[in-house]
Amino acid sequence: MQKDNEPIIEVKNVSKFFGEKTALDHIDLSIRKGEFVTILGPSGCGKTTLLRLIAGFQTASEGEIRIGGKEITQVPPHKRPVNTVFQKYALFPHLNVYDNIAFGLKLKKMPKDVMEKKVKAALKMVGMTDYEYRDVNSLSGGQQQRVAIARAIVNEPEVLLLDEPLAALDLKMRKDMQMELKEMHKRLGITFVYVTHDQEEALTLSDTIVVMSEGKIQQIGTPTDIYNEPVNCFVADFIGESNILNGTMIKDKLVRFCGKEFECVDEGFGENMPVDVVIRPEDFYIFPVSDAAQLVGKVQSCIFKGVHYEMVVLCDDYELTVQDYHGFDAGTEVGLLVKPMDIQIMKKERTCNTFEGKMVGENRVEFLGCEFDCLSENIKGSVAAGDAVEVEVDFEKVNLEDNASADMIEGEVKFILYKGNHYHLTVHSDWDEDVFVDTNDVWDNGDRVGITIPAEAIRVMPAKADGNVN
Ligand code: ATP
Repeated sequence: MQKDNEPIIEVKNVSKFFGEKTALDHIDLSIRKGEFVTILGPSGCGKTTLLRLIAGFQTASEGEIRIGGKEITQVPPHKRPVNTVFQKYALFPHLNVYDNIAFGLKLKKMPKDVMEKKVKAALKMVGMTDYEYRDVNSLSGGQQQRVAIARAIVNEPEVLLLDEPLAALDLKMRKDMQMELKEMHKRLGITFVYVTHDQEEALTLSDTIVVMSEGKIQQIGTPTDIYNEPVNCFVADFIGESNILNGTMIKDKLVRFCGKEFECVDEGFGENMPVDVVIRPEDFYIFPVSDAAQLVGKVQSCIFKGVHYEMVVLCDDYELTVQDYHGFDAGTEVGLLVKPMDIQIMKKERTCNTFEGKMVGENRVEFLGCEFDCLSENIKGSVAAGDAVEVEVDFEKVNLEDNASADMIEGEVKFILYKGNHYHLTVHSDWDEDVFVDTNDVWDNGDRVGITIPAEAIRVMPAKADGNVN
């Protein structure tokens, strides 16, 4: 298929608000003609909203969307050169397969013979030849979805929008349909914009993946870019399996993690800088202990996964996930090795919590909507009651409680990252600010927690000049 570099869809600085809720936050995205683009992210990240804005079922609160160079904000869905396939097949239950597919063509008053040819071609495209006179209610979920796809492509749209079209199908049917969709995309030569929360599906299908979280784009890239060069811990954790570890970039091409130094290929992070290190489980070599080992550990568990074995190896107090075609039994002492180019280094997004606050007394500071005691020796510079301040709290000094008491800040656990020897949690406080916590306790996404911060954990300094606290 001839690919064109010309963008067909341009999303420029688009935001979408539902009351207080920001579903999309300044989205910029350019989709080329003929591309298979997948919008990928966890539930609630805004992917369906983005698709609905492109389809025209909703309008952007801010920003502009162009299709084929034309601003289409006010153009109704049926006048846009797009067709949508939904997760729920949305077929007309009183029409048979043929009439469902022919529906749009009949509205266009297409001659019967042309229509018949097109419907048959669309049915062939989705592997449903000979089904035209079947009642749609008698079809399986997979077959109904094929009919829905046929109904969309029979209109020959320039862009096909697909909103989790395979989500309702069983695994085997899903895998078959993925391959068929990929083939269909090649044959049709049109642009596909596909929404899914399934990273494997995104890696299998797409030319380009757009990873979203909380209404924002985290990374745009090819499947290999996204897999091999994730830009942050969210992407590394969301796409495939990863060991994500705290590390220190000692100097160019030398990084320390799990208590050892490793050669790597990354440069430009500075010296002794805290970083996040990502190693894919399949990038570890595992073998009986020998001098070649960079890390030595004991296998904790070994599970056969069909093609490879997945092992958890305890090296000092770090649990590392390793995949190999050869399995080592639990209890075996093993050596691990990783090549410099398989160590992915990422700049840390933050090294401690930073909050805007205000002094409310000599040793009392307000932030996150609560007042806290703090110690004189942890107050840097001169600050007086009423002054705006910046507050720092180390991740491991924040405590989480099951049952919040009345004077505690409360929040909800919204993202959990396992860092080999502890969990790094993002807790969204009811004050609408995120609090980052390192802990060995096991929490689940969505858990309600009370947040406490002891006085000795709080560092206070004058607010930066542009800090604007009243
Ligand atoms: P899922 O995979 O669960 O469908 P998603 O990534 O597609 O999730 P969206 O459906 O785009 O997410 O929703 C993004 C956010 O906007 C969610 O918090 C959702 O609750 C909210 N939202 C979406 N539509 C509306 C609406 N009509 N009114 C209020 N809030 C909405």
